Amino acid sequence: MVNYPQMLRFRVLGSGSSGNTTLVEGDGTRILIDAGLGAREMAERLGSAGVDAASIDAVFVSHEHGDHSRGAAGFSRKWGVRLCGSRGTYAAAGLGAEQIAGYDVLEPGVPRRVGSLTVLGVPVPHDAAAPFAFVITCDGVSLGHATDFGHVGRGLAQAFRRCDAVLVESNYDPDMLRDGPYPWSLKQRILGGFGHLSNGDTARYLGHDLGESCRVVVLAHLSRQNNHPEVALMSAEAALRRRGRTEVRLEVTGPEGTEWLEVGAMPPPPVRAKPTQLRLF
Ligand SMILES: [Zn+2]
Ligand SMILES: [Zn+2]
Repeated sequence: MVNYPQMLRFRVLGSGSSGNTTLVEGDGTRILIDAGLGAREMAERLGSAGVDAASIDAVFVSHEHGDHSRGAAGFSRKWGVRLCGSRGTYAAAGLGAEQIAGYDVLEPGVPRRVGSLTVLGVPVPHDAAAPFAFVITCDGVSLGHATDFGHVGRGLAQAFRRCDAVLVESNYDPDMLRDGPYPWSLKQRILGGFGHLSNGDTARYLGHDLGESCRVVVLAHLSRQNNHPEVALMSAEAALRRRGRTEVRLEVTGPEGTEWLEVGAMPPPPVRAKPTQLRLF
């Protein structure tokens, strides 16, 4: 039997203000990006994906906001899993006061190896202590994972340029946000350069900066109040179509997450048909 390389794959377990967690798996190593659901909820959702919570090798926390870090300490304690993120996240999330299995500091731009995976932290502009987007690589195939940032800086665009799949937030529709129920101060925060990406911001990123090798895009962290999945999808689809990027698979995720999504999966080699004799009579 031929052994095919086991490719990188990921599965969003939850996305949005109710809690963000993504499971990433490659060559026998499994990590979580963010732990914004409760520890028990995360274990249950992992179970639904056929994954034992005890098999998680590390949890990378992007920043201290509750929708990304709520379950981190509890999950670490319960399953003996080390956490990893910036020094700023460790301090701002108050992890020093928690009983956890351990915390590994991720320095910006310095890749960290966890089993078969390599994780790079890319600083992003967001109103948190020291927030990160991540690039996760396995056997030369990579996933870019970025939620919660106010604008796409050059550093992020460059770090994601060679990614084969990208999960990026498409947080709000500006008109819905302006006309919506949020207090003006919160609207200002979201709209600002250290808040969140609008559908238009995300579309501009996809239109101008998405790398040539990218085949999968997942729109994430949609605001329930200020966005609609169809509106976000239409905006992103139009941007990709304008660039002729019809080969890109576009998905949108919400609180329930996604199925498994493969990154850079190679199609299996064609099955060779047995030579058949042409019947001439
Ligand atoms: Zn968030
Ligand atoms: Zn945030």
